[in-house]
Amino acid sequence: MILILYPDIDKRGEDYRHLLEYLDALQGIRHRVHDVAGAQQTLTEIYLIGDTAALDVDDMQALPGVERVIRVSDAYRVLGRHRDDHRASEFHYNGITFSQDSFHVFAGLCAVDNPTNVERMFQALQQHGQSCARMGAYKPRTNPYSFQGHGKECLPWVFELAGKYGIRVIAMEITHDRHIREIEEALAQTGNPTGVMLQIGTRNTQNFELLKHVGRQTRFPVLLKRGFGITLEESLNAAEYLASEGNSQVIFALRGMKTNMGDPHRNFVDFAHVPVVKRLTRMPVCIDPSHSVGSRAASPEGIPDMLHVTAQGIVAGANMVLVDFHPDPAHALVDGPQALTLDELPWFLDDAALARETYLQRRERARRHRAERGR
Ligand code: PEP
Ligand code: MN
Repeated sequence: MILILYPDIDKRGEDYRHLLEYLDALQGIRHRVHDVAGAQQTLTEIYLIGDTAALDVDDMQALPGVERVIRVSDAYRVLGRHRDDHRASEFHYNGITFSQDSFHVFAGLCAVDNPTNVERMFQALQQHGQSCARMGAYKPRTNPYSFQGHGKECLPWVFELAGKYGIRVIAMEITHDRHIREIEEALAQTGNPTGVMLQIGTRNTQNFELLKHVGRQTRFPVLLKRGFGITLEESLNAAEYLASEGNSQVIFALRGMKTNMGDPHRNFVDFAHVPVVKRLTRMPVCIDPSHSVGSRAASPEGIPDMLHVTAQGIVAGANMVLVDFHPDPAHALVDGPQALTLDELPWFLDDAALARETYLQRRERARRHRAERGR
C-alpha cells in the first residue's frame, strides 16, 4: 500500500509526527518514506510493506497528512503501474525531462578513445540540435585482454568537451560503485559542465549489490539495461531494486536477448516489449538498436537493419534511443562494426523523427477511438 501525502508536507509538523506514530504502531507492517522531487513541489510517498491486506483504504486515507491511498500489487511496488494509480512518472535532470511521453536520442561512442573523436562526436550532436549523448568510460568486456575503457582518467576531458558543445546528459555505464564517486569527483573538478545518467549494463542487471548502491544515491538518474538471458519480470524486479533503495528516476532499456533465434542479428530484437514495459510500469523505455542488431547490414532498399528496428521501437512508443556512432568505425576500440558514421547522423535523426511523428499520430487515433466510445 502507498500513502501519498499532501505536497510539500512539513516533516517537522504535527500531522507528519502523528502519522508516523500511527504507522509505527501497526503490527507486522514496516514503512519506508520516499521523497519524489518534482519541478514545482516535493511529493512524499510512504510505502507500507507487510500484512497490508487487513488495512482499510478509507481508514488510511483519513490519517493526518494523507491525500491519497493506493493499494498495490506485490510486484514493482514503486515503479509499477497499479490500479487507480495516476501518479505522474516524469522526472527532470539537468534541464531535461524524462517520462513515458518524452523522446530523446543518446547517440555517441560505445567507448571513449581519444579527445579528437569525442570532440567530433559532440560537435556533430550539437550541429544537429542534440543535448544528450552516450560515452563509455568503463567497459565490461567478454575477453579480459580486450580494451577495458579509459576509466576515470578520461572523465575530466570528456565532461569539459560535453559542456563545450552543450551536452546536458551523458549516459555512461558503471560496473562498480566506486565509479559513482569517480564521476562525482570529475564533475566537481570540472565545475559540473554536464550531467550523467548512470548506465547499468546487461551483464550487471542482477548485480544486486551494485543496484543497491546506485539506488541509494539520488543525484544521478539511472538507465538499466534488460538482462540478456533472464525473463522480463526478472529485469523489471532489478529496476525495482533501484527504486526500493530510494532512486525511482529509472529508465528501462531493451537491448535484445541472447538466443540463436536472434541470428543473423547480434541479439534477438525485443522492441515489441516497449508497450509492455510501459503498461506494467511507469518507467520511460529506451531502445538500444546497436547492441540488438550488432552490425551495419542493410536491407535491399538500402535501410540498415539498425534504422529499421529503431523505427519499429519508436513507432511502438519508445522514449529514448541509445545508439553507437563513431567518426571512424574501422578504428573504434569497441563495437566498431555496429557504429554508424557521423555523416549518417542527420539521416538517423530524420528517420527517428518520422517514426516519432507516426507514433504521436497513432496515439491520437487511439484517443479518438476511446473518446467516441465514451471510455
Ligand atoms: C553498452 O551499451 O556499451 C553495452 C555494453 O551494452 P549492453 O550492456 O547492453 O551489452
Ligand atoms: Mn558496446
